[in-house]
Amino acid sequence: MNNTTSSVRVRFAPSPTGYLHVGGLRTALYNYLFARRNNGAFLVRIEDTDQTRSVEGAIENILDALRWCGLEFDEGPGKDGGCGPYIQSQRLETYAAHAKQLVESGAAYYCFCTPERLETVRRQMQAQKLPPMYDRHCRTLTETEVRDNLNNGVAHVIRLKVPIHEEIAFNDVIHGAMKVQGHVLDDQVLMKSDGFPTYHLANIVDDHLMGITHVIRGDEWLPSTPKHILLYRAFGWQPPLFAHLPLLLNPDRSKLSKRQGDVAVEDYRAKGFLPEALVNFVALLGWNPTGERELYPLEELIAQFDLERVNKAGAVFDVKKLLWMNAQYIRMKDDNTLAAQLQSVLAKNNITAEPEYIARAVHLLKDRVETLNDFAESSDFLFHAPHAFDEAYMRKHWNDSTPVAVADLAERFTALTDFSHESIERTVREYAESTGVKPAALIHPLRLALTGKGVGPGLFELIAVLGREETVARLNSFLEIQQK
Ligand code: GLU
Repeated sequence: MNNTTSSVRVRFAPSPTGYLHVGGLRTALYNYLFARRNNGAFLVRIEDTDQTRSVEGAIENILDALRWCGLEFDEGPGKDGGCGPYIQSQRLETYAAHAKQLVESGAAYYCFCTPERLETVRRQMQAQKLPPMYDRHCRTLTETEVRDNLNNGVAHVIRLKVPIHEEIAFNDVIHGAMKVQGHVLDDQVLMKSDGFPTYHLANIVDDHLMGITHVIRGDEWLPSTPKHILLYRAFGWQPPLFAHLPLLLNPDRSKLSKRQGDVAVEDYRAKGFLPEALVNFVALLGWNPTGERELYPLEELIAQFDLERVNKAGAVFDVKKLLWMNAQYIRMKDDNTLAAQLQSVLAKNNITAEPEYIARAVHLLKDRVETLNDFAESSDFLFHAPHAFDEAYMRKHWNDSTPVAVADLAERFTALTDFSHESIERTVREYAESTGVKPAALIHPLRLALTGKGVGPGLFELIAVLGREETVARLNSFLEIQQK
């Protein structure tokens, strides 16, 4: 390990069971912010020792989502900092050696119970309304019994020998002092019969060997922490500090679930959210910088992050707020950058255009959309002449004298030397004045002919973006349709 033991080293340790959950992103982000705030190292470690839950492609998926969010790691798969490999299935001998060490020191023991016996024990416990737990049967096997079983190749696991008469106490940075009596803890399986370690063993062995100083993870791991403390004790290692992050909740305060909305980072990406907005939003789920503001770019989140100020209470994932935040980030972004990001989104809607034109379209609409997809969906009239026209709007704003006015304006637009929105506006207003009609009586029909819709961005800016040729062509073709 390159770093001294005093410098902060934290890790995000996802299991590759699918996509990156927004809760996982929050965990990764808090680790990242804490590392950057303290000039420490942020590691990513893949916990794939439960082979039945591992999903093909999930590692790349998770790493890709982290990359998209801008959470670059210092050490992890493909980036060795001297503690690799960072994928647990590639470290099996290390866990086996450590499990053996615990058996030899008497802190763990071989268990030869069959699945049938374990099931019977579980049912008995349930019948007595006790939490299902192993009855510690194999703790009392004699050395000879153990040796014979091993020699006969009897299937076995290795279990932690929980000190049942002790109290296990630790301090959680967020939850404060925690304690539990040994007798309520299960003799946790550390090595499974297939030679793979369980999460608990692999997790603490790696946290130790990788020099992790702070374990920042979801609340669901709080009940496992006493077992982890026992493992540290058994190895004679100093445990890291623990900080368990509050649950993410649906607006009805139930646990955040797929049933009530999107939970994968990739879903938000596909819906046209900006990573900056998602990161800002997720950062505030459980922690708030000191100011009253809501918008904090990553650099400011780093500057203000304080683990001690993370809340204990669950944090509500409010998509409306995320949408609002995304809209703010869209507005703050410069047109060319947004245009570049939009190109692929537009391509999905079969729209292709020059980046320069997209940038002008972006400028026109960016105050009116919440996501990049909104833009793609609401900007069709900027890329194609409309096929359909709002009939109610038509009835209200189109009368016998309108075609002449529209035709006259098309002519005046053709003759304009300066096709800026100011000059277009002047042309329309002067025409209104000279013919004695209200400007609105021209603006509405023009909008209809050009966009097919009754609402949209400012007409003169819109005409300037469409350009002279397109504007005049659309007006003329609309007039032709009306004459038929
Ligand atoms: N592999 C665990 C998970 O997927 C990590 C828990 C921990 O950070 O210790 O949540």
